[in-house]
Amino acid sequence: MTYCAQMSDQIDKSEKLFAEAQQHLPGGVSSPVRAYKGVGGTPRFMARGKGAYLEDVDGHRYIDYVLSFGPLILGHAHSHVVAAIEQAARRGTSYGAPTEAETTLARLVTDFMPDVEMLRLVNSGTEAVMSALRLARAYTGRDKIIKCEGNYHGHADSLLVQAGSGVATLGLPDSPGVPARMAADTIMVPYNDLGAVEAAFEVHPNAIAGMIVEPVAGNMGVVLPRENYLQGLRELTRRHDALLLFDEVMTGFRVSPGGAQAAFGVRPDLTTLGKVIGGGLPVGAYGGRREIMQMVAPAGPVYQAGTLSGNPLAVSAGITTLHILAKPGYWEDIAARTERLASGMALVADKRGVPVTVNHIGTMFSCFFTKGPVTDWTSASKSNTQLFATVYHELLSHGVYFPPSQFEACFLSSAHQDREITATLEAFDRALLAVKAST
Ligand SMILES: *Cc1c(COP(=O)(O)O)cnc(C)c1O
Repeated sequence: MTYCAQMSDQIDKSEKLFAEAQQHLPGGVSSPVRAYKGVGGTPRFMARGKGAYLEDVDGHRYIDYVLSFGPLILGHAHSHVVAAIEQAARRGTSYGAPTEAETTLARLVTDFMPDVEMLRLVNSGTEAVMSALRLARAYTGRDKIIKCEGNYHGHADSLLVQAGSGVATLGLPDSPGVPARMAADTIMVPYNDLGAVEAAFEVHPNAIAGMIVEPVAGNMGVVLPRENYLQGLRELTRRHDALLLFDEVMTGFRVSPGGAQAAFGVRPDLTTLGKVIGGGLPVGAYGGRREIMQMVAPAGPVYQAGTLSGNPLAVSAGITTLHILAKPGYWEDIAARTERLASGMALVADKRGVPVTVNHIGTMFSCFFTKGPVTDWTSASKSNTQLFATVYHELLSHGVYFPPSQFEACFLSSAHQDREITATLEAFDRALLAVKAST
């Protein structure tokens, strides 16, 4: 057993690859959180994924709760998704011409989210949000946008203000290179604070194009909306002739099959999607009321385009994923296991006397190392990130792969069965025991 434990700590290949990567890629990665700045140590370089498991280049297997930061709701390399991509690839990888599949995907999304009456496909969540804001500004003839502290909407200039996980993990309040005048049109309010939104509308009469919000926040860890918060946003935006934009890039198909808008019964004017909608390939989308979407070029004057938008491989992966998710009871099974894991972790922590707050909804959860409750960025940031980092590395050595930041959400897939949940709860218990023993 001791021998196994020692073997499992060998990460020679990851270390070598990380050193090389840092010569060629800033920080050795293609996206910041992957570099482990939030937990320290060497990021594991991955070799393959199958179902609920990832395998790194040193041969360690992990139960994966990152799932590419959300998209892989069917797990890694689902056979139907892989087959769809293979078949699409054989027919050619991109045409720069319309395909039937794009309409099929749009129709499927409307089945899940009836308020997304029309949509435009793009290549990432960032692009979806950026384009949706342009549209909201064009539609209202106003410039200002309200945004919540700790909500992340991609890295577009005007939204890179108090932007949650990635930025928080690195301790950057903001980013150099964002022109002050871009940030000046962004009005910050705390999440879950209706009064602050009301005040913003009073201070800036007839100037606010809309409010963008993660209806369930996922980028400061999972934080649920207070009762009537989303309804309140709907009323306030309507009263001030502003648009309500739900950024469901993470929550779409995860908080409920129809996203947070279905779960909470609140109807946004515009919705942004990404992650799950691409089934693990790069896809984003923005959509909403027909009257607004008809303003997008070439139907209307608001310009937005993309060489690879509606890419046949990506669209086929998305369609296949949504078809499978639509099977009766399929999504509910994933949510039930999420519930089992989240409540199990809270019990384990309680038993070991470690103060945690486990927030969960649908197929996503977060374990904050704080007594809580966690309801906004201020309370999320009270988490003990040192303790998180220690537990993170313990979990890794016990074969459980969590996102390498306290402020990233954890995700489940349909491949996470009872066996994986049980193993994860055991690993969590051992991790907390080890932490207690060392303090
Ligand atoms: C991930 C995310 C984005 C950005 O999507 P990318 O595909 O990474 O550009 C935007 N909004 C939310 C809520 C997200 O979770």
